[in-house]
Amino acid sequence: MYDPNNIFARILRGELPCNKVYEDADTMAFMDIMPQSDGHVLVVTKEPAAELFDLSDAGAEAAIRTTKRVARAVRAAFSPDGISIGQFNGAAAGQTVPHVHFHIVPRYAERTLRGHGSDMQDPEILSQHAERIVAALREA
Ligand code: 5GP
Repeated sequence: MYDPNNIFARILRGELPCNKVYEDADTMAFMDIMPQSDGHVLVVTKEPAAELFDLSDAGAEAAIRTTKRVARAVRAAFSPDGISIGQFNGAAAGQTVPHVHFHIVPRYAERTLRGHGSDMQDPEILSQHAERIVAALREA
């Protein structure tokens, strides 16, 4: 069952703000408000679906296409040592927002990850990080 008032649905409708880095007809990507590392981005589908299994094949294709595109820009903007890409289905798997999304989490060899959804980032820093990714997407 899909809850149309989940946080990401409200962001997609423009009812809540976000640091958007990318949008097309099927997807939107924005900064995670509690990033596990610098440059942590979320890719959400516009199709209303709680889990990957509820998403159409076309929606899944669009989500992974955007994830790849934005992850490439994150890599160009932050030069991390690696990038983890994750997607959780169900509370038992760690999903806290019931709208399908992919995490793009840059990994830095000398830094441990911050907790999942634990520390709010300074809005100014989040905005600067978003600008770096937007600039990298522009150059791609
Ligand atoms: P999940 O736990 O469902 O895989 O991931 C949800 C993610 O959304 C978490 O990493 C959390 O930090 C992030 N998040 C929660 N609320 C908000 C919000 O209002 N705005 C943004 N941009 N991210 C959020």
